[in-house]
Parts: sequence; structure tokens; C-alpha cells
Amino acid sequence: TSFAHFNFDEQLMHQIRKSEYTQPTPIQCQGVPIALSGRDMIGIAKTGSGKTAAFIWPMLVHIMDQKELEPGEGPIAVIVCPTRELCQQIHAECKRFGKAYSLRSVAVYGGGSMWEQAKALQDGAEIVVCTPGRLIDHVKKKATSLQRVTYLVFDEADRMFDMGFEYQVRSIASHVRPDRQTLLFSATFRKKIERLARDILVDPIRVVQ
Ligand code: AMP
Repeated sequence: TSFAHFNFDEQLMHQIRKSEYTQPTPIQCQGVPIALSGRDMIGIAKTGSGKTAAFIWPMLVHIMDQKELEPGEGPIAVIVCPTRELCQQIHAECKRFGKAYSLRSVAVYGGGSMWEQAKALQDGAEIVVCTPGRLIDHVKKKATSLQRVTYLVFDEADRMFDMGFEYQVRSIASHVRPDRQTLLFSATFRKKIERLARDILVDPIRVVQ
């Protein structure tokens, strides 16, 4: 598979060319067409596999379609991950590729300033990258709303469970409308993750790195 197979438009291809990636990684070859089709997906993949771009590129296409269908306020895509560091990394990739369509991303994570994050959320962004507890705090304070979210990603789900975030992960899933597309990434696929997948995904396709 080459990037041409994804049928991305020229604006997104331009950003991908700028990144100097020569060809898609295996998780991108398998995952991108599934995510573009609108299906729910379980990706069993580790850091270094290129999994971040595998959910970001289809997310950008989704956002552009959804923006037209449903104009309004609040994020269209939410990416939930375990740590501040990962949040910042994913946010950087969202900004890099989101430039294709002038999309805005905000990162909200524990340990950062609540006030500054709330201000960034209120300024508006189509993409929110977050740690679970902090997103819930902002929703409770009405700094943002999940009403318009139709693309929901849980990255490194097994690590979030190890860190004790299962309740928060499930709570976020239950507060996003059911007609969403959900993607779940995990390095391992153990019983607890399998159960989560059964509870929050609809007829998912499983992709293994
Ligand atoms: P990830 O597994 O998403 O954390 O990505 C690991 C690293 O691979 C990141 O530095 C990405 O920028 C890079 N990367 C992602 N996709 C590709 C690709 N198709 N070719 C080369 N590098 C890539």
C-alpha cells in the first residue's frame, strides 16, 4: 500500500509529504481504510507502530465531513490517553496534520493549568486531546461539551486501566452520543480490554500490528 491508496485530498497529502514519510506503516495500511469507512476499530499496536497517524488522518477527514453536516460549537473529535506526555505528543501531531484544513486542537491533562485549558477550550477547537480525569473535570465545569463529539479515540487503553482510569474511561464513553465512531488502541488485548471493547464499541474490526 502507498499513501495514494488512502485517497486523501491534496491538502492532507501535502502535510504528509512534508513529514517525509515514504510509505504507510502496517497499522496504517490496515487501519486507515477501516477508520475511513466509519467502522469501529480495535487496534492492537505499540508506540512506534505509527498508530497515532492511523487514527489522526481518518479523524481529519471525519471532522471535515461532520463540520459541514452539523455546524456548531464544541469538539467533534476527542482523543483520550493516559499521560500528559502522550497528550502533548498526540496534540503536536494533530496540529501538524490538522494544518491541512486549519483545524484547531487543544490538549488538556492533569497537572496543567485548569484555567488556561478552560480558556483554550472556550476559544474553540474541533479536536481535544486529553487525559480522562481532566476531561471530566472540564465537562463538569462546563468549559466544554461532548454533545458534538462523533469521533472518539481511546489510546493505550491497557495503560489507562493500569493507572486506575477504567471508571473515567467508561464514563467518557457513556457521555458521548451513541451514533459516534469509536477507536480503541491497546498494546495488549487482555480480558478487561476485551470487556471494555464489548461495552463501548459497535461491531468493531480488529487490527493487529
Ligand atoms: P507512533 O507509533 O504513532 O507513536 O509513531 C511513532 C513515530 O513514527 C512517530 O515519530 C511518527 O511521526 C512516525 N511515523 C508515523 N507514521 C510514519 C510513516 N508512515 N513513516 C515513517 N514514520 C512514521
